[in-house]
Amino acid sequence: MAVSENINHINSVIPAHVKLIAVSKNQSIEKISEAYNAGHKIFGENKAQELISKHSLLPSDIEWHFIGHLQTNKVKYIVPLVKLIHSVESTKLLKEINKEAHKRNIVVNCLLQFHIATEESKYGLDYEEAVSLLNSHDYKQLNNIRICGVMGMATFTDNADIIRQEFKELKAIFDMLKERFYATDESFKEISMGMSDDYLLGIKEGSTMIRVGTAIFGKRV
Ligand SMILES: *Cc1c(COP(=O)(O)O)cnc(C)c1O
Repeated sequence: MAVSENINHINSVIPAHVKLIAVSKNQSIEKISEAYNAGHKIFGENKAQELISKHSLLPSDIEWHFIGHLQTNKVKYIVPLVKLIHSVESTKLLKEINKEAHKRNIVVNCLLQFHIATEESKYGLDYEEAVSLLNSHDYKQLNNIRICGVMGMATFTDNADIIRQEFKELKAIFDMLKERFYATDESFKEISMGMSDDYLLGIKEGSTMIRVGTAIFGKRV
């Protein structure tokens, strides 16, 4: 199916409050333009260099999201270009984002990434690490970042029960952090969970943002 049909299909099955992030990593400018021309304006990339290059080649009203592992030395390039960084998982990274945002007199929206999958290789915090980050003196000094919620990736498996369990865990983490740190902060409201094969499951478990690549663009090249 064409990119535009895929987008229309997904938009027709997800609720209006869920934001669709079209994950365009490894996809060509032509394919991304196809999505853009079909009216889609929100794209996600997981590599700094690729985001920088696509940002320069594509229309300026695109809302870019950074969803991959972010190295501190790349933060300065990314900060001016993105609407939201989904993948914050350390105080060090948060401080670097804050520093670059401060220089530009902007506030950068971030999600805390949690490790919910069983695989070792996936990045992310656990609940206790997040609590100590949010309680730290360092964190309280950061005025140029805004934590808007949480992000996580489920285990790569066909077993829907495992994925559902991991999504429930992320939702529970969100709820606990909301109550403990952000009860009066309306910005803390996002749960970024669900990809091509499990976005409906993610939405059932409370997702507010889904990150969908191959179901829109086809296989990555
Ligand atoms: C690649 C990627 C996605 C999209 O994966 P698909 O299976 O192609 O939908 C979502 N989130 C992150 C963090 C990714 O790296």
